[in-house]
Amino acid sequence: MPIFSSIAIVTDRDVVVFDATILPAIADAVVNELRQRTPKAVRYLVNSHWHPDHAGGNDEFAKAYPDLEIIASQRTRELMEDTASVYVKTLEFEAAQANREVDKELKSGRTPDRHQLTPKDRAELQSELTLGARFLAEFKATPSKLPTLTFGDTLTLFHGGRELRFLRLPGHTAGDVAVFLPAEKILLTGDLLVYPVPFCADSHPSAWIASLETLSRLDARIIVPGHAQAQPDASFLQLVLDSFRSIRQQVRDALHRGLTLQQTQKAINLAAIRTRFTHDDPDLNAVFDGNFAPIVRQFYDEATEGLEQYQ
Ligand SMILES: [Zn+2]
Repeated sequence: MPIFSSIAIVTDRDVVVFDATILPAIADAVVNELRQRTPKAVRYLVNSHWHPDHAGGNDEFAKAYPDLEIIASQRTRELMEDTASVYVKTLEFEAAQANREVDKELKSGRTPDRHQLTPKDRAELQSELTLGARFLAEFKATPSKLPTLTFGDTLTLFHGGRELRFLRLPGHTAGDVAVFLPAEKILLTGDLLVYPVPFCADSHPSAWIASLETLSRLDARIIVPGHAQAQPDASFLQLVLDSFRSIRQQVRDALHRGLTLQQTQKAINLAAIRTRFTHDDPDLNAVFDGNFAPIVRQFYDEATEGLEQYQ
């Protein structure tokens, strides 16, 4: 799975880029690659949502292309403004935690599942540490440039011979934007879909179900999730939708039986769902446990308006 991705849509006049990647250096690499492929300038850059791995390169694109407009939902712009100063603390916390785990592996020479580290594993762990430290330093040094063109629920751009429909469809965050090209039947989902395992850290799960239902009605021929890996059909979208619906129902059943959050987390049958995403690949199982499983708590909190705090 590519970690970061930008998608370029070339029009008759210029280029529209969907998502800005994370670091200035990575955005620069995208700009250089684009310049090798087309002499056309980037006119519009889209931030699918506020997470820094989708908006962190805004500054570099704006420097490279002075006429750039950065498009996002109004909610995403607000979230970027409101999280910019505190998100550093989250990143510092996560970086410290990740560093501790990597240090432990490097010192013991073994992975968490007790396999001996190969030289390649060591090199990867080292580069993880370096990238993490660099991201934190660059994030602190340059807050992302904010979007310059925002909208409420929908925006349609008829530009350079193409039609681009922007749809605000909350779920992964409150401000997610998907882009649909009806002539080409191509759908860019941002992190409303992340293949092969959805990322559900701070989501709005019921809204997410409704948004995926909307996407499934678009009749897209090609679906491009966040972090790339284009899908030739809607089967992955359907799998995510079915899984969310199943968990929502299981959480409701647990609530009707009077279960606390902890009891609910034990009662939900996540193993069966996990297999459908990971086919029991151990690395993917770990990703699933970290990135997908939090959705149970979010459904619980949503259904009870946060009663877990008082259990
Ligand atoms: Zn995200």
